[in-house]
Amino acid sequence: MSNDTIFGKIIRREIPADIVYEDDEVLGFRDLNPQAPVHVLFIPKQPIATLDAATPQDAALLGKVLLAAAGYAREEGLAEDGYRTVINCNEHGGQTVYHLHVHLLAGRRMQWPPG
Ligand code: C5P
Repeated sequence: MSNDTIFGKIIRREIPADIVYEDDEVLGFRDLNPQAPVHVLFIPKQPIATLDAATPQDAALLGKVLLAAAGYAREEGLAEDGYRTVINCNEHGGQTVYHLHVHLLAGRRMQWPPG
């Protein structure tokens, strides 16, 4: 499959992950190298390589990924103190896995600028 990455293996349960959210189109799992007390990645099951590669046809799916992150944060009681969502795009954005993902970071006060 083109566009396949390590996240495809997580979706297909070929490698383990700590999955905390799942619906028909979106998967959420804890980042292996957490950068905050809560660090969860939300991905579309149908892969999109980067935000730059997203098309108008992906609009609803991108919305579902974001809403899944926001809903999870609300249900976990993270929304009142607040949290950060991040989508890294390509090399200078710090993207290392080319399957679009939303980082949800919470549990501490975030810094700005992010560096
Ligand atoms: O935005 P970026 O592409 O750099 O994020 C990829 C993230 O995927 C990293 O935070 C990394 O720790 C995480 N990762 C993971 N499990 C893997 C491979 C990478 O949680 N098996």
